[in-house]
Amino acid sequence: MNHQCSSCNSNSVIEFFADKSKSLNCFFCEACTLVFVINGDSEVTPYEDQNQSSPDHIEHIQSYAQEMIQNLDLHHKSMVVEIDSRDGAQLNLFEENGIPCIGFERMSQAGVDANENKDNTIKEYFGVEQAWSFLSESHPQSQGRKADLVIVHNALTKVQDINDLLEGIALILKESGTATFESVWIKYLFDEESINPFMHATSFFSTHALQVACSKHDLEITDIQYFDLNGGMLRWFVQRKGLHIVSPNLTVFLGEEVESGMTDKDLYLRFGELVTGI
Ligand SMILES: [Zn+2]
Repeated sequence: MNHQCSSCNSNSVIEFFADKSKSLNCFFCEACTLVFVINGDSEVTPYEDQNQSSPDHIEHIQSYAQEMIQNLDLHHKSMVVEIDSRDGAQLNLFEENGIPCIGFERMSQAGVDANENKDNTIKEYFGVEQAWSFLSESHPQSQGRKADLVIVHNALTKVQDINDLLEGIALILKESGTATFESVWIKYLFDEESINPFMHATSFFSTHALQVACSKHDLEITDIQYFDLNGGMLRWFVQRKGLHIVSPNLTVFLGEEVESGMTDKDLYLRFGELVTGI
């Protein structure tokens, strides 16, 4: 059976792991380096990938809010949007500083329960359709305002259609705006020698894979931060292509991904053999 990359649509994809009993198939795209998972069993389980109440996580989201408010000069006329906002803990930190916020939350039951009475949470997935609706002046929450900051910290590993998500973000993002994405760095995903993370995910992005995906939507990665959290994770800063200064960090991380073999199929094939033998 021929498979296509769920991001760049290339047919140059290699299956590096399959478990028939779990209907789980894991692929690496040689064209854009995306790792993607087809889980035929059922819908992907809502992925609670980090302990949301751990002190480390709370400190992480607090320092993120402070950094963004300061660096992007966010205020009462700004607009912050979070995709997969879960229980709203991250957005609350902006809201308590008087910054207008809107969350999209569909998947997790915790998110649905916590947001039941909040009128700034839209209980839908986010994509192009929601973006057009968001841009309408009659939209009850946005009233047509574009976003200064779009937060995508819980969505990447379970995204169903990355192109729909990125196109939606490109539509609602101001020219001066910033979107930040977070995910486990795929470099460390293989350290555990376990297939578990793949059973709860649709895709794992390297910096290379995210850069390729962004460029199709006139966006680009302009900076990267590494955090020693959840086994090692990255935060990518994404802005409109060609309008902003690109940090030298980008070249550093891209180089490290090449050096550690993340852009080559061998790493994935070796991992597949290893976990098949377990
Ligand atoms: Zn691809």
